[in-house]
Formats: sequence, structure tokens, C-alpha cells
Amino acid sequence: MTIDPYAWIEQSLATIHRADWYRAVQALSDRPGATVVLAGREVINFASNDYLGLAGDERLIAAAIAATREFGTGSTGSRLLSGHRQLHRDLEKAIASLKQTEDALVFSSGYLANLGAIAAVVGKRDLIVSDQYNHSSLKNGAILSGATIIEYSHCDVVALKTQLSQQRQNYRRCLILTDSVFSMDGDLCPLPTLLEIAEEFNCMLLVDEAHATGVIGKNGAGCVEHFGCTGKQLIQIGTLSKALGSLGGYVAGSANLIDFLRNRAPTWIYTTGLSPADTAAALAAIQIVQQEPQRGKQLWRNVDYLKNFMQQQLPHLKLLPTQSPIVCFQLPSPGDALRVGKHLKEAGIFAPAIRPPTVPTSRIRISVMATHKTEHIEELVAALKHIGIRFDF
Ligand SMILES: *Cc1c(COP(=O)(O)O)cnc(C)c1O
Repeated sequence: MTIDPYAWIEQSLATIHRADWYRAVQALSDRPGATVVLAGREVINFASNDYLGLAGDERLIAAAIAATREFGTGSTGSRLLSGHRQLHRDLEKAIASLKQTEDALVFSSGYLANLGAIAAVVGKRDLIVSDQYNHSSLKNGAILSGATIIEYSHCDVVALKTQLSQQRQNYRRCLILTDSVFSMDGDLCPLPTLLEIAEEFNCMLLVDEAHATGVIGKNGAGCVEHFGCTGKQLIQIGTLSKALGSLGGYVAGSANLIDFLRNRAPTWIYTTGLSPADTAAALAAIQIVQQEPQRGKQLWRNVDYLKNFMQQQLPHLKLLPTQSPIVCFQLPSPGDALRVGKHLKEAGIFAPAIRPPTVPTSRIRISVMATHKTEHIEELVAALKHIGIRFDF
């Protein structure tokens, strides 16, 4: 009998299908925007992280084309070898200026920024305390670091303090990890309290502003700005690929932190520098965020309109608490979430089902854009009312 060492893959796939956990890609055509073409049909887009509608903006496209013509398509190496351009430094200075930090460092993705920063600042002798709903990149960064990891219940500062008072003295350094906007729920971390706790227990605090940058705070600098914590000692992470409409990630913080990461973050040192096109597009996006605050204001008007309209029209819908453009409602099973997502798509609305293992409970996740029109939001609510008859919401 021959044994196939890969036979388990087919069995695992079958298990994933049976649980309604199976996922597959869907191709969009044309430029991203408030409406997109999905499987040949125009649908209203409530599925993207392009909150300000910049990923299809002419100015970002022009910046990317100009940088490609000037510097080529690839950056050709690590930033420490052949991969560094003045454009990277310009972008890092723009991020530091938006965040009001001493410096910033650009990574090839937000995921890599988290892996690299966490693995660089803590190790085997150290402790990580991490919110249970943190993004995969924070969780895997914690594992990569080799530190001892304790998860605390979502946003539960009492549980966090209890853990620290019992465990902190057994470790050299300690790092608290949190998303600022939780990406699959839309709520915010209690940042001022986390900062107080970090100070009390001599911990570093890393906050991931992926969904907050360009979206939250008066100048779009994120939750740190929103909570009045600008200038505090913190490790701020973010992405260039959500509201900033490009690709890449960053760490913002003190000049010493950034200098240290350039020497010790493996996912920065041993990977190719961000492409000229992505770098230039992100730089153009930051300039737009700073020069056109009306985009952010329109986003929040749309968020408020949707939330109020949903509460009024769909009072039985189980909305998760949110303070961001991410609005989710819960469904009893992954199968129900898939079916509601499918009915929405048939009604011309693109809003995906989010299921385990990404989240503990199944839901539909709606993300609002600055470029949505009132009619787009009204069509979404009308479709939900129609579908809700069958699903009891
Ligand atoms: C999207 C996301 C990331 C990853 O950013 P990429 O640039 O897409 O790799 C990291 N953290 C959080 C909280 C995110 O939502």
C-alpha cells in the first residue's frame, strides 16, 4: 500500500466545506469605488477598506504612474541594500507629520510591520498581553517574538490589570497589544486607560491604527488623535492599504524606536522595499487627507446616516456596537450569514459574510465610504428589509 502524505489536504477541505467555513476569491473588474463590477454586474460596494475612495483617485494613479516612469516598477532590493529611494523617506516624513511622531518606518505591508515590530521589541524573556480580538498580524507577531503570550477578554481593562499584577514581575519587558479600531466589530480600544495601565506596570503599548488612519481623529491621524493621546510614548502601527488606497504598512514612534527597527526588524531588513508606485500613491493620499478634511467629514455623515436609518427601519437587527465606519450585524450561524450575503449580492449589494475562524460569531460586515451616495445607503437598507422577512430581523 502506498501512503499519500498529502491526502489529509482533501479531507481538511471537506471538513471546511461541511462547517460552511469554505472561502474563495471573487474577481472585481474596473476601478475600485462606491460601486464595483462583480461577476460582470454592477453592485454597491460595502465590502472594501477604501474608506475615503482614494484607491481609484486620479491623483494617486497619476503619482503612481509618474513614480514608475522615474524609478521603474520594482525597488530591486532591501531598503538597506539597493532598495531605498528618497521617495520612501518622503513618505516616512509625511506619516510622522500626520501622526505627530518623531519618525516613521515604511514596511511592505501592515502585516509585516506588526510581525517585524513585535518580534524586534520583545523576546523569550518577555511578556505580551493581547486583546483576544486583535488582528491576525498582532497574534502572529506575538508568536514570532517567542515571548509568553496572555490574551485578555475583549477591551476588558480589569482583566488586563489583574493579569499584569499577577504576571508582570516575572518578566523582563512587557508589551500590550491592541487594535485601535477592531476590524471585524468596528468598536474602539479604551486607549487612555490602556496608556495609564501601561505606565503603571512599566509596559510598552503597541496600537494598530490600520482602520483608523485617515478615518478617525480631527486630522485623520487615528484613535491616538481622537482620544487626545498625541505625543504619548507609544508604538503606532498602520497600513497604507486601507483609507490611504495604496499598499504597504508603517510603524510611527520615537526616533530611537525607528532607528532600532531599521537594525532589528527582520520583516523590514530581509524583504524588498516598497515599490515606487505604491510609495508615491501613499504619499499623494496623505497629502489629500491633510488638504481635504471634507472627505473624512462626508464619511462620518454617511456612517451616521446609515446607523440611524438602520436603527429606525430595522429595529430587530442585532447591530454590534461600533464607533467607526465598520457596521456589523450578527446572524445565528455561518450558513445564515452566507445566505444573507448571497441575497444581498442578488439585490446588487456587496457586503460580505464574516465567519469563524476569523470571528467567533457569524455576521455581515458593512463598511461605509465617503463616496457612497445617500441612494446607495437607502438601497442597502431596503434590501436588508426585504431579506429580513426570511431571516427574522
Ligand atoms: C488590514 C490590517 C492589517 C494588515 O494590513 P495590510 O497592509 O493589509 O497587510 C493589520 N492590522 C489590522 C488591524 C488590519 O485590519
